[in-house]
Amino acid sequence: MSALYGTYARSELAFERGEGMRLFSQDGTSYLDFHSGIAVNALGHGDAHVVAALKSAAEKVWHTSNVFTIPEQERLAQRLVDATFADKVFFTNSGAEALECAIKTARHYFFAKGQPDKYEVIAFTGSFHGRTMATIAAGGNPGYTEGFGPVMPGFKHAAPGDLDAVRALITPNTCAILIEPVQGEGGVTAMTAEFMQGLRALCDKHDMLLILDEVQCGYGRTGRFFAFEWANITPDIVAVAKAIGAGFPIGACLAKAEIAASMVPGTHGSTYGGNPLGTAVANAVLDRILAPGFIDHVNQMGQVLAWHLQQLAQRFPQYVLELRGKGLLAGIKITPPVRDFVSRLRDDHHMLAIGAGDNVLRLLPPLIVSEADIKEAIDKLAAAFTAIEAEAAAAPAVA
Ligand code: PLP
Repeated sequence: MSALYGTYARSELAFERGEGMRLFSQDGTSYLDFHSGIAVNALGHGDAHVVAALKSAAEKVWHTSNVFTIPEQERLAQRLVDATFADKVFFTNSGAEALECAIKTARHYFFAKGQPDKYEVIAFTGSFHGRTMATIAAGGNPGYTEGFGPVMPGFKHAAPGDLDAVRALITPNTCAILIEPVQGEGGVTAMTAEFMQGLRALCDKHDMLLILDEVQCGYGRTGRFFAFEWANITPDIVAVAKAIGAGFPIGACLAKAEIAASMVPGTHGSTYGGNPLGTAVANAVLDRILAPGFIDHVNQMGQVLAWHLQQLAQRFPQYVLELRGKGLLAGIKITPPVRDFVSRLRDDHHMLAIGAGDNVLRLLPPLIVSEADIKEAIDKLAAAFTAIEAEAAAAPAVA
């Protein structure tokens, strides 16, 4: 029996090595990875440039405290600022911590302006922002808050897409709207450009900040560096993680200068956040993501995937109810229970994918995916549906 907490419904499958789009189990079986460690392995497995950067950094300084200057951290922050809307960056170890920093930054901004009561955040049903006490409150999913004492106050929830519902929740105490431009865990729901623009307008009108959670959908996955770019808006604060280290645990909170200005010494901190090893790796990841053509490739592959999924939906209308998502964050709402379908794909077809809320199958391939990989994945999905069909035909009819 495992000595680990029982917090995960784990498969017994363990991987020994990875190469590009493939993971190899201990018995040498190859698995096509459309899971990416939940949108983390943006560059697949064993990217030579990132591995070299990690090895070289490991020979130098692994860690120093943030009370010293960390040149790789300074460089990574400057590059993120140069590439995005942001002027300031705080590094964390995870997505949830990036969200914690985002929420603290928004509240402290108004506190410093003499408005300490302006701390409420409007978030959305079906969202996921992490597992800390603040981020489970922000997510608002009772399944994640129940049994952990009082839910942290200061969060209200509206249905995604419903601007009137958001409007109805705004009070003089509302400091921010927090949203995933494409909900991941909740069921791969992409917000429309109009809705995102509506949120921006509400924030401008009511002196509130727009905080975006791009932990899953950001860093190129939708075919733009940030998913919000599809809506032509500018946020005030953005949380990122996952792909930024492509497997090394690192996250970041990006903000406009004026908004981050009150986060002075003593207001926030992290022992490991942005340490030399992590930021050396993240700089190498960024070299790859910002290389000319990389995000164009993601955009193209997103379209190829969408086209093939439409064909699949037409071929299996009894199993595919709806296609969702954006770019390489794709969702298929299916009729078979998604948990069983994920196991079937893994065990019988050696393909890794992941479930999401609302019985949606989530496809999150590494961003280096090729057209041939996509066709292979579609063949595996078709084979899994065909097998279900055959089993249903062979099963004795229920009276
Ligand atoms: N926000 C989103 C949109 C996520 O998908 C996740 C993790 O899945 C998080 C936040 C939390 O990130 P982490 O698990 O690194 O704390």
